[in-house]
Amino acid sequence: MRPAPIPDADSAFFWEGLRGGRLLLQRCSACARHRFPPMPSCPYCASRSSGIVQAAGRGSIYSWVVVHRAFDPAFAGEVPYTILTVALDEGPKMLGRMTGSAHAAFGGRVKASYADHGAWTELRFSGEA
Ligand SMILES: [Zn+2]
Repeated sequence: MRPAPIPDADSAFFWEGLRGGRLLLQRCSACARHRFPPMPSCPYCASRSSGIVQAAGRGSIYSWVVVHRAFDPAFAGEVPYTILTVALDEGPKMLGRMTGSAHAAFGGRVKASYADHGAWTELRFSGEA
């Protein structure tokens, strides 16, 4: 069985956003910087005041790994696959599996996509057309 995320008080909005096909980020009310992962205060200015905004879901490939050996038996039938670190246009970096047949390249443009697993939705990235 595929492992599922366990949302907490800080990350619940993020997972709920993915279920609706939206990539949501915290944005500091004091310095206006976006941040990820969700956390109670700003890592740049320490303000505890923030809002939640919808990201465009677009970014550039910062790094990647190609998984050839499944770390969990649930993924054994899916290898090889590529996990990207994406630098979102809003600033934060986040991880997600690359979809499609394209190969990852540094700086390659990608956009968010959403894989429904029933009880939860996974963020993935595909090459921009
Ligand atoms: Zn801040």
